[in-house]
Amino acid sequence: MDRFDLSGAELQVGGLALSLLAERVGQTPFYAYDRALIAARIAAVRQVLPAGVHLHYAIKANPMPALVGFVRPLVDGMDVASAAELRLALDAGADPQGIGFAGPGKREAELRQAVASGVLLHVESARELHLLADAAQSLGRGARVALRINPDFELRGAGMHMGGGAKPFGVDAEQAPALLRAMGRQGLVFEGFHVYPGSQNLRGEVIAESLRRSLDLVLRLAQDAPAPVRSVNLGGGWGIPYFPADRRLDLAPVAEALAQVRERLVQAQPGAHLVVELGRYLVGEAGVYVARVLDRKQSRDQVFLVTDGGMHQHLAASGNFGQVIRRNYPVVIGNRLQSAERETASVVGPLCTPLDVLADRMDLAVAEPGDLVAVLQSGAYGASASPQGFLSHPACLEVLV
Ligand SMILES: *Cc1c(COP(=O)(O)O)cnc(C)c1O
Repeated sequence: MDRFDLSGAELQVGGLALSLLAERVGQTPFYAYDRALIAARIAAVRQVLPAGVHLHYAIKANPMPALVGFVRPLVDGMDVASAAELRLALDAGADPQGIGFAGPGKREAELRQAVASGVLLHVESARELHLLADAAQSLGRGARVALRINPDFELRGAGMHMGGGAKPFGVDAEQAPALLRAMGRQGLVFEGFHVYPGSQNLRGEVIAESLRRSLDLVLRLAQDAPAPVRSVNLGGGWGIPYFPADRRLDLAPVAEALAQVRERLVQAQPGAHLVVELGRYLVGEAGVYVARVLDRKQSRDQVFLVTDGGMHQHLAASGNFGQVIRRNYPVVIGNRLQSAERETASVVGPLCTPLDVLADRMDLAVAEPGDLVAVLQSGAYGASASPQGFLSHPACLEVLV
């Protein structure tokens, strides 16, 4: 099983009933991540990845140090997007050879740290190339570089587009040949390409199409590369279902496309390997956010469960993390899963703003103060993607169980 089982009386996390876990943690609210679910999900991904395709974990999805340390031996590498994420990956024991560093605004100091660490830089501008050449020279150490391409096509179906059209990420495919020629400069060790079309894609056919078209682009650009291609990172963006209408991602077309793409890649560039980088898909379904009901209020015709957790710790569940329309995350009363007494209630947080909503008029078990609200699908883009300082409530705890 690679996601929470809701068939028991209480939600179980890491084999512990939620109310006991809350006692063990010693406070609410908190995020809990289930190791067994993460391991099972990674194993399931491995099952469909063709041999020779490297699996990377994108730390941005969940940078909790214990979780990063747990995931590290289960994957082939890590993708980082800041110097602090780089340190996390290195602290977790990741081999610099398998670390990729992407991001549209890398500081000079970060670039130097990355060169000193020996990781692969996903170059996203001409400025970065110059700074990297300087860093390589002054450190006396080659800078490993790949070119991040903003493709000349856009695909529908991703929740968040990060490629195609005008984007701050990577360099436009049209500008790539000039940058590739500049990569022949001293101190730069060209290794390959990075294409990341977007995040939270639930359509396997669309991901498959994106993989095929990205490879076409990479093989075309490889003609201008200063050295043979060694690594091609074609992103990921595999999504997880959050809302009732979401259909679970079908991995069959993705696996088929990966096998074809890998075959074509090694035909054209025999020394190259393919990388898939996943964040949300590996950890998103293995996490739950837990808040305690502080108060139960009736206002006119509506019931409000006021909890000690809210948007400051779980921005995405409040609908304010890039969503166009607010929809309810899967929310349950975690210690009353099978209760027959149900009602329509809203779950709100303690903040003095109408944005602080965790569930808007949902069908829930009838709950009282002391009960535990559990927001599922919370293992990715939770604590680290939330404005925890907003309204100065206590910081959130995270546990790996
Ligand atoms: C955010 C990001 C990821 C991770 O995306 P998920 O949707 O969490 O899998 C991977 N690669 C890059 C370049 C990213 O910016």
